[in-house]
Amino acid sequence: MPLECPRCQSNRIGSNNYGKKTAGVVGAGAGAVSGVSAASTGAMYGGAIGLVGGPVGVTVGRVTGAIIGGLVGGTTGASAGVALGSVLDEQVLDNYRCLDCRYCFRNAPSEESEASGDPG
Ligand SMILES: [Zn+2]
Repeated sequence: MPLECPRCQSNRIGSNNYGKKTAGVVGAGAGAVSGVSAASTGAMYGGAIGLVGGPVGVTVGRVTGAIIGGLVGGTTGASAGVALGSVLDEQVLDNYRCLDCRYCFRNAPSEESEASGDPG
């Protein structure tokens, strides 16, 4: 069912996705912060694994572990942020905008359901 502007009934509707964009960035930032602790853990394990390869192996192992830890933290945070943002977009924010009259509205679930069959 195509969206329709509640004001002018145009079907040229755009979506803002403000929540998804904002929460995605915030989530990536938060994830990167938590990724720092994951990175130090990764560096520790990487260093331990690298012991097999001698001093160079320890350095390479630490760097690799830190990078992996940071990436995992950032990615997890960003996807959590995007998931939260899409909920915000759909439930809270006026996510849709009419491209003709610039009216912003939510895609609210239809409140009026046709009640057919009158008892009695
Ligand atoms: Zn409109």
